[in-house]
Amino acid sequence: MKVINKPEDMQKQIKQEIRQGKTVGFVPTMGFLHEGHLELIKQARVDNDLVVLSIFVNPLQFGPNEDYERYPRDLGRDEEMARSAGVDYLFYPEVSEMYKSERSVELIVKERVNILCGASRPGHFDGVATVLVKLFNIVMPDRAYFGMKDAQQVAVVKGLVDDFNIPVQIIPVEIVREKDGLAMSSRNVYLSNEERKEATGLYESLRVAKEALLAGGERNPEKIKAIITKKLSQTSGEIDYIEILSYPALTPLKQVEGEIIIAIAVKFEKARLIDNIVLNNL
Ligand code: AMP
Repeated sequence: MKVINKPEDMQKQIKQEIRQGKTVGFVPTMGFLHEGHLELIKQARVDNDLVVLSIFVNPLQFGPNEDYERYPRDLGRDEEMARSAGVDYLFYPEVSEMYKSERSVELIVKERVNILCGASRPGHFDGVATVLVKLFNIVMPDRAYFGMKDAQQVAVVKGLVDDFNIPVQIIPVEIVREKDGLAMSSRNVYLSNEERKEATGLYESLRVAKEALLAGGERNPEKIKAIITKKLSQTSGEIDYIEILSYPALTPLKQVEGEIIIAIAVKFEKARLIDNIVLNNL
């Protein structure tokens, strides 16, 4: 595995590989790797000749009161994990290399952002879109892998790639969970022991909702939200949102039908956790 820091070096290397006919799979991350990231790498490994993993905690996608400074980082451990997972190139740029000067063009995401995480994180998806356009131009992947843990991000990235004719295929990957159902996340380390136990309530609430939909035939979104609220209220976390929307358009529903997402966010003392399930053909 080669570790590359400079965007121009990454570009140069990958151009050579592409010239030799290699296909490139790309996994963008913010590091502090876990099994969820490894699943993305595994799928990229299967589909492509080469796998590029990027680790970049992108300041542009953090709000002023968010956790940019204290976001967990451990490059040594990440490098080891990436190497054993079969990554060919680890791209690990400095912030000063990615954002050399004042940007002369600003990207603003207009659709699919005023709800869910976008509502409480203004500008977040503009930062995500900006860094991804840069990373796609640096890594020039055939395919890029994104976790459904961040289902809104997948929806936004699909819109970005379509709008700008970016020649990359977006491959969504199922959520990887701990044994007790909690969706894996780099931010889970922020949870206290007590909160960690309560955090299983997120997935449980989604399972109960799914049951009500599939087995119980409930189609009223408000009633399903009430079921989730009841379950989540048993935790010490504060509910940020519970939404049932069409997917991937993320529009509100009067009746739960078609392809839908049930998405939730809960704020614990130091961590805001998200989870979701997507259901088809309702
Ligand atoms: P992050 O490092 O948190 O920005 O995540 C990098 C990529 O890994 C994103 O596409 C995430 O959606 C994905 N990811 C994070 N956690 C999980 C998980 N538990 N299961 C599947 N994908 C995940």
